[in-house]
Amino acid sequence: MEDKLPIIEVTGDNYAQVWPCMAKAFKDATFIAMDCELSGLGNRSKINSSELDLRYQNLVELANSHAIVALGISCFSCNSVSSIDMQEGNGKEQTPVTYYMVQTFNVLTMCSDPFTVECGSLKFLHNHGFDFNKLYAKGVLYYKGCDRRNDNSFSVRQLFTKMLEYRKPLIVHNGLIDLVFLYQSFYCDLPKKNDTFAADLDDLFPEGVYDTKYLAEFHQAFPATYLEYLFKKMQLKNASCQKKGEWHVRLCFPPYPRHAPNIDWYSYLQVFSYRVQDDPDDRELCKCFAYHGYCKNDKCMLGHNINRVVKELQTPGAKKQGNSKYYLPRRGSLVHIIEKFSSKAEETRPQKREASFKEASITKKQKSPKAPNEPEQVTKEPKNVVAMEVKQENSRGVNGHRAGYDAFMTGFVFATIVSMKGQLTSKDDPFTPKNIGLADQVNKVFLMGKDFPFLIRTGHYSSKSSNHCGKIINVRKGEITQRKV
Ligand SMILES: [Zn+2]
Repeated sequence: MEDKLPIIEVTGDNYAQVWPCMAKAFKDATFIAMDCELSGLGNRSKINSSELDLRYQNLVELANSHAIVALGISCFSCNSVSSIDMQEGNGKEQTPVTYYMVQTFNVLTMCSDPFTVECGSLKFLHNHGFDFNKLYAKGVLYYKGCDRRNDNSFSVRQLFTKMLEYRKPLIVHNGLIDLVFLYQSFYCDLPKKNDTFAADLDDLFPEGVYDTKYLAEFHQAFPATYLEYLFKKMQLKNASCQKKGEWHVRLCFPPYPRHAPNIDWYSYLQVFSYRVQDDPDDRELCKCFAYHGYCKNDKCMLGHNINRVVKELQTPGAKKQGNSKYYLPRRGSLVHIIEKFSSKAEETRPQKREASFKEASITKKQKSPKAPNEPEQVTKEPKNVVAMEVKQENSRGVNGHRAGYDAFMTGFVFATIVSMKGQLTSKDDPFTPKNIGLADQVNKVFLMGKDFPFLIRTGHYSSKSSNHCGKIINVRKGEITQRKV
């Protein structure tokens, strides 16, 4: 496995050149993970309204007033599913492994319609390396809502349509907001009701939508489910599966030239080099950070080292290891639900504005840059933790490529969940929910503060929207032409 993850930055300058490469990545993909970076999340209590109808309407409003400033797309293409010979000690051992070729893009997207940018978001994105000057000067343009007449421009809309044409499973993390924004920004005007939206999505993504936060919250016993935690946790699990000769995932990346412009390389394997016992920083871990991936206290003096969190946080009932002292009530338990609500109430306090935005972006997905997965690397530098922390904090933005990096992390988490199910035994098997062992989990999107998911389905009493029905015909037309070629 490569020790650096390449992310291709897509701007107006190179869009036309990168387009064929992206189209091919979509075509070859087994599944596609996506993540949106937004210009703000508005009033947090609105987007978490307890009543689902109202929550959806507030999200529609949000998608109308705000914009996607970066779109992360990570295409995972399964190259092989097989047992490989491992030369281990004395003799050969068969280890079942799923190989993926991964291509990741970070598209800077500039909305040409007026949109709101929140001060908190600006600060947050800027602090995490997002380059607004570049966005304004070079972002790939798009307009929101339905297709406009005489629109021959080459925009993100075409990109999204291309993705729909190929009918691939879509993977998101805590993805309801992403789905609402993708639909309004690159497809057409959102329907008024959430069950119509659900029916449209059902038709748009016939191969299914999977939400890794939902999968982790309801089907895996993890003490925390924010994206960065899950990513690192799954890296460790994957390595341990490999060691034990069980199903695991291996990644490879296309042989891009190392110094090509517009390609940035990110370390992503740090969790393997981090050893708690070598860490000179013995501060207690900040519990809020450990369990939720963010800390509301700007002046918090407790430890925020994600690698240590991943190694020390224990699931209740799990065998106690070393001197771990961090436990959390099981998700889905009443205590956990109450905790969620109380933390939400705190988030919306006005005086916490900046911090609360921080969470906003973060709760959505716990972002952070660097980290990777492979057992071979277990020997890297035990670094000075303070330096590491600063690095992490600064590199959250991964040079502003959070969307791409987050999409990659989401795809990896999904790939490992599928692999550990051990049901897909040939790359030629169709990647259907049943074949990958996720028939009960497909089309369920995590709902903050709820113990049930948002269901993507066509209900008995719901129908698809006329905007969608009018547009999907053209999308599928492209698909037919496409298949003929
Ligand atoms: Zn803290």
